[in-house]
Amino acid sequence: MTLLQRHLTRQIHLGSVPIGGSAPISIQSMTTTKTSDPQATLEQIEQLHQVGCDIVRIAIPDEQAAGCVKAIVNGSPLPVVADIHFSHVFALQAIEAGVQGLRINPGNIGSPQRVATVAAAARMHRTPIRIGVNAGSLEKEILQRHGHPGAAAMVESALGHVALLELHNFDLIKISLKASDVQTTMDAYRLIAQQVDYPLHLGVTEAGTLAMGTIKSAIGIGGLLSEGIGDTLRVSLTADPVEEVKVGRQILQALGLRREGVNFISCPTCGRVEVDLMTMAAEVEEKLAHIKQPITVAIMGCAVNGPGEAREADYGIAGGRGRGLLMRRGETIGWYEESQLVKALLELINRDMNTK
Ligand code: SF4
Repeated sequence: MTLLQRHLTRQIHLGSVPIGGSAPISIQSMTTTKTSDPQATLEQIEQLHQVGCDIVRIAIPDEQAAGCVKAIVNGSPLPVVADIHFSHVFALQAIEAGVQGLRINPGNIGSPQRVATVAAAARMHRTPIRIGVNAGSLEKEILQRHGHPGAAAMVESALGHVALLELHNFDLIKISLKASDVQTTMDAYRLIAQQVDYPLHLGVTEAGTLAMGTIKSAIGIGGLLSEGIGDTLRVSLTADPVEEVKVGRQILQALGLRREGVNFISCPTCGRVEVDLMTMAAEVEEKLAHIKQPITVAIMGCAVNGPGEAREADYGIAGGRGRGLLMRRGETIGWYEESQLVKALLELINRDMNTK
């Protein structure tokens, strides 16, 4: 697959994670726990960290949540972004608490003085701000002028927020333009990429449940990335956020943009299969989610394409009648009974990767 040349953006840093320029595309997710419960939130952040999340966002809906930001930032293995609507007070508190990023739209926090205060504090702490435009909450005046929440209206809204920050010499900015409609989302990002060099945070918002949201995100986020647009992403799913990170990784892997973790090849099975391949593939995928090294694992049903794919992969199994062949980089490790095949594969990989 040939990707178009990457749209060049300037680079910002969220903690230790670079975004933009030639930095790898980073994966973000958002906690679903109450931010006012730091212990539960940190437990979820750790789960996200385990599956390869790079940056985590937490919602700050009220004072209790704002008061817990420091504990979360201090305990988090990932850079934390505070998601704030309307309240410049929460924004200032979050900056003081040491968040590595803010998501706030300066046009929504009131007087120019408030914007100036937030911009000054963010500049002093070098805290980047994401301007997050959502098609569902555009300014009335922009909506009236454009007639509908299309790509041009979203871009105009984003540029308005950008101008407010630039007015205060603040340029640690990234931008997202999310719509629940895939085509509108893609058009908006394409349009803004022609106009700014700020890093772009990709996402299709309210994309749906695991299955539908994965499809919409793969098309929308994956399509833009294949055009060279986008520096960081969040897959929005009505599901456990761990799934968001897994889907994000899979999109990057499918495009060859991220080599870490397991690239799975598995056959769809057919009438020739004589082992329970679906259960085996699901088990292998789940049990190798912790692997960070870039390896390819092939789970194949039978002797037709199985040995060929298994041989080409770093690790592979090819099913036979009630048993299967285990291979490592073209070398036959041995034949195993069906009940022992997955165990033997996992032991082999874990031993090689030096992980538990
Ligand atoms: S590898 Fe074998 S079982 Fe799997 S789809 Fe191909 S022919 Fe069918």
